[in-house]
Amino acid sequence: MSPKTRGDVPAYLPFHVEVSRTVRLSPSFVRVTFAGDTLCDFADNGLDQRINVILPHDGADFGFCAEPDWYQAWRSLPPPAQPPLRTYTVREVRPRAGELDVDFVLHGDGGPASRWVGAAVPGDRLVVVGPNARCPEPTGAVEWAPPPGADRLLLAGDETAVPAISVIAAALTPAARGRILLEVPEPDDELPLAAPPGVEVAWLPRTGAQAHGDLLVPAVQEAVRALAAPAQEAAGRGPESLDDLEDVDEDELWEIPETPGGDGFYAWLAGEAGMVRRMRRHLVQDAGVDRSSVAFMGYWRLGRPPR
Ligand SMILES: Cc1cc2nc3c(=O)[nH]c(=O)nc-3n(C[C@H](O)[C@H](O)[C@H](O)COP(=O)(O)OP(=O)(O)OC[C@H]3O[C@@H](n4cnc5c(N)ncnc54)[C@H](O)[C@@H]3O)c2cc1C
Repeated sequence: MSPKTRGDVPAYLPFHVEVSRTVRLSPSFVRVTFAGDTLCDFADNGLDQRINVILPHDGADFGFCAEPDWYQAWRSLPPPAQPPLRTYTVREVRPRAGELDVDFVLHGDGGPASRWVGAAVPGDRLVVVGPNARCPEPTGAVEWAPPPGADRLLLAGDETAVPAISVIAAALTPAARGRILLEVPEPDDELPLAAPPGVEVAWLPRTGAQAHGDLLVPAVQEAVRALAAPAQEAAGRGPESLDDLEDVDEDELWEIPETPGGDGFYAWLAGEAGMVRRMRRHLVQDAGVDRSSVAFMGYWRLGRPPR
């Protein structure tokens, strides 16, 4: 999230915040509430607003964030001195109260963010790079944009997409119809989620040795049969013969239709990149759904930290 500007105003700002409280929501989720005076300038864009979290590192301060181009300043640090930077979703921001909630997935000590949140206590400090409320134009980094009139919605993701899907679901109109599918590590990871009555919500807890996507991919296939297939048949559209993502690196697995398609079906898929690729392949290659009706985002990659 490099510091693009709109006119002279930066679209994103580094916000210096401290942990105000943590709440263990379930075995795999911790909600961290950050507090900071400058959060009054944090734009409340809702939906799947992504942010960067810059983690404390070896006692280094966050001095580079004072540079006008903080990202360039971060990049020019020698790699061992670079504080880890990870991407998360705004679960809720309360600018007037100077508070920001982020729901972190705990996945052990294997990554700096998960390790940090596992030990976080009130008073811990870090930097969140987020949208600037003073920017006169849209700041971006929000991907939920179904075409007007989309009346069969599919939102599917793993635990890392639960915060984004929860915020999107709460913003759907009461008349919205479709299905939300959430694969999570454990049965007790089912969190409260507000969705309109016409949107079915299914939580898919993994058990034992099930891998990411083992439950979600078949559930997406079934949802596509119910929600998209009738329209595809009516339009006489067949499956794409070649996988157009064959050569795409999973680190780059991210596509949001510029002009979302218009037969009424729209899918938003996010989570582990290999799993997202399988879901997207099923929609476009096997079921013949038009690419312009599918937004897909590899949020993380199994076995590898982000580059
Ligand atoms: C737009 C966007 C929004 C996101 N929103 C959220 C969010 O709101 N909440 C959230 O928790 N995550 C979210 N993520 C995912 C998060 O950025 C990654 O999970 C990130 O890799 C975690 O960093 P880490 O330092 O803990 O682990 P890393 O250092 O990145 O990775 C270390 C190891 O852990 C593995 N790993 C990473 N994440 C997981 C995981 N969830 N489960 C199991 N293994 C994992 C990696 O494959 C790697 O082997 C989002 C990602 C994107 C791109």
